[in-house]
Amino acid sequence: MKKNKKTNSDNELMSWRDAAKLNIRALKLWWRRMPQLMTSYLVLFVWDALTPYVGIYLSALVIDELAGARDPHRLFFLVALTLISAAVISLVSAILRKWANTYEAGLWYKFNNIFSEKLLSMDYVDRDKTETAALLSTIRQNINGGGWGLIRVPSNILSLVSSVLTLFGGVALTVTLFTSKVPDGAGALTSLGNPLFALLIAAVMIAITVISPMLSNKAGSYWAKNADVHREGNRFFEFFGFLGFRPEYAMDVRMYRFDKVCEKYNTKKDGVFSSHGIFAHYARGPIGLYRAASSAVSVIFTGVVYAFVCLKAWAGAFGLGAVTQYVSSVTRLSGSVDGIISTLGDMRNNAPFLELTLRFLDIPNNMYQGSLTVEKRRDRKYEVEFRDVSFRYPGSENYALRHVNMKFEIGRRLAVVGENGSGKTTFIKLLCRLYDPTEGEILLNGIDIRKYRYDEYMAIFSVVFQDFRLFALPLGENVAARADYDESLARDCLEKAGFGERLRELPDGLGTYLYKDYDKDGVSVSGGEAQKIAIARALYKDAPFIILDEPTAALDPMAEAEIYSKFNDIAGDKTAIYISHRLSSCKFCDEIAVFCEGAVIQQGSHEALLSVEGGKYRELWLAQAQYYAE
Ligand code: ADP
Repeated sequence: MKKNKKTNSDNELMSWRDAAKLNIRALKLWWRRMPQLMTSYLVLFVWDALTPYVGIYLSALVIDELAGARDPHRLFFLVALTLISAAVISLVSAILRKWANTYEAGLWYKFNNIFSEKLLSMDYVDRDKTETAALLSTIRQNINGGGWGLIRVPSNILSLVSSVLTLFGGVALTVTLFTSKVPDGAGALTSLGNPLFALLIAAVMIAITVISPMLSNKAGSYWAKNADVHREGNRFFEFFGFLGFRPEYAMDVRMYRFDKVCEKYNTKKDGVFSSHGIFAHYARGPIGLYRAASSAVSVIFTGVVYAFVCLKAWAGAFGLGAVTQYVSSVTRLSGSVDGIISTLGDMRNNAPFLELTLRFLDIPNNMYQGSLTVEKRRDRKYEVEFRDVSFRYPGSENYALRHVNMKFEIGRRLAVVGENGSGKTTFIKLLCRLYDPTEGEILLNGIDIRKYRYDEYMAIFSVVFQDFRLFALPLGENVAARADYDESLARDCLEKAGFGERLRELPDGLGTYLYKDYDKDGVSVSGGEAQKIAIARALYKDAPFIILDEPTAALDPMAEAEIYSKFNDIAGDKTAIYISHRLSSCKFCDEIAVFCEGAVIQQGSHEALLSVEGGKYRELWLAQAQYYAE
C-alpha cells in the first residue's frame, strides 16, 4: 500500500490533504461545542504571539539612543515607555489567561460529553454492538495512552496560529534587514545590499522547512505506526497495573493468589513501556536521532541569518539597535518556523486517531423515525400485535425470533415462558422498539409502530428489565425518574410494590440516597428490595403496558411469593406481560405463551397447556415441579 494514501488503519501515515480535512472537521466540532473557550484561547494566543515584538522594537530604540544622540529626555521617555508597555502587556496577558482558564475548567466535562451524548443518542442497535464498544475502547486507550485524537486538536491549532503570527511579526520587523543599503565604502561587503541575498536566505529557509519536518515527522511516525502496540500495552496496564485498586477483585485475589498470575501480564506491559521496551528502543535509536537532526537543521537557518546581520552591521548598513532587533526577531522567527513544522507534523500524526473518533461520532441513526403521534386514550385501548415477526441480531446468522404472531388482549395478563435463550427478552426488545424486526411487522392499533414518534411510542410501556439499574440518587428520584415529583404518588407506588414498610424505616424517607456513592448516609438495598423499587418506578410511569422481565430472578422464595400475590394489584387495569422461566410464577396469568428456539410453540391458559400430553409446557412444568415436590 502506498504510504500517502488515506487508509482506515491507524498505523499508516495519512496524506497531508486528508489530515488537514480531519483536523478542520475536528476544529469545527470544538468551535461548536466550546465557542467561548476557543475564542478566549485565540485572543490569548494572538496577544502572546505578537506582543513580545513591542519589547524588541522599543529596546532597539533605547540601544540606538544610547549608542547615538544620548538625549536624556528621549532616553527617559523610551525607557519609561518600554517598562510601561511591558507591564501593560503582561497584565493584559494575565487577564486573558484567567479568562481562558475559566472556560478551561469545563473542558474535560464537555469533552467527555461529546462521547456520552453520542452514546446516549445513538440507536440502541448500534449501542449494543460489540464493534461500537471496541471502537470506543480504542479511542479511550488513545486518549489515555498519549493524549491522541480529538483532545489534541485545540492545542495543535492554537500553537499553529500562534507560530504563524509570530512568523509574520518576525518578518515585519526583519524586512528592513534586507532593504537597508550598505554604504559604498564597505568594499566587498557592499554586495550584501543586493536583494538576491533576501532570495538566498528565503531559499535556505524553504529548504530547511522541507527537510526539518521530514525528519521530525519521521520521529513522530514511530509512535503513530506502533499505536496498536502502545494501545495493547496500555490496556494491560490499565487493568493489571491497578489490580490492587479494584475492590471487586479483592476477595478472589486473596483466595487464589491471582496477583501471581496477573503479574505475568503486568510484565507484558513492562515489555512495551519499560526501558527494554519497543518505545525505549526507538527513543534511543531512530526517534532520538531524527529529533536531534530536525532541530540541528533548523538551527542552520538561524546561523545563516546571524552571519548576515552581523556582516551587514559591520559594513555599516544599520546601527546597534537594529542588530538587537534583527537578532531577537530572527530568533523568534526561526522558533516559529520550528513550531509550525513540528505542529503540522503532529497534526498529521494525530489524523489517524481523529479518523477513529470521527468514525465513532459519525455512526448514523439509521432507525426510521415516524412522525405519527400516539393517540392519548383514557380507556387505555392500545392494541399491540406481532404479525409474522422474525428477527436476527445484526451480524448473527441465527434467528432469535421466528414467525412470531401475537396479539395482546387489552387489560389481560400474558406470561411469556421458555428456557434460557428461547427469545423471551428479544421479544420484549422488539416490542419496545429497541430493535426493528428483520421480517414481519409490529402494529399499534393497526399501524406499523415504526410510523409513530419514537418517544410517544415508548411512553406507552413501563418495563422492569431483567438487568435493570437503580441510580445512587434519592429514592424518590429513582422512582419518579425526575427531580421534582409527586411525593404521595411515589409513596403509593412503593407501597404497591411492597416497599412500604422499608420506606417508613428510612431516615429521610423518599429523600434517602440509595447506596453510599454520593451520600455517606445512603442506604444499601438487597436484590429483592431493588426489584421492588424498580417495579415502583414502572408503576409511577403509569403506562398502559407493564412488562416485567424475569422479575423474580433476584428474589428469595418469600419475596417471590409476595410479588405473585401482589401482581394483580400491581398490574391494575394495565395490559401486563410477565416473562419468566419459572413456570410456577406464571400460573396466575390469563394466558401463557411458550417460546422455544425463537418461536411461539404453544399458547393458552395454564390448565389448558398442562393438559396437552407431550407438550413443551407440560414437559417444562414437570421438570420444574420435581424441585418443589413435597
Ligand atoms: P431469553 O430471554 O429467552 O433467555 P434471549 O432473547 O436473551 O433469550 O436470547 C435469544 C437468542 O438471541 C439467544 O440465542 C441469544 O444468544 C441471542 N442473543 C441475545 N442477545 C443477543 C445480542 N445482543 N446479539 C446477538 N445475539 C443475541
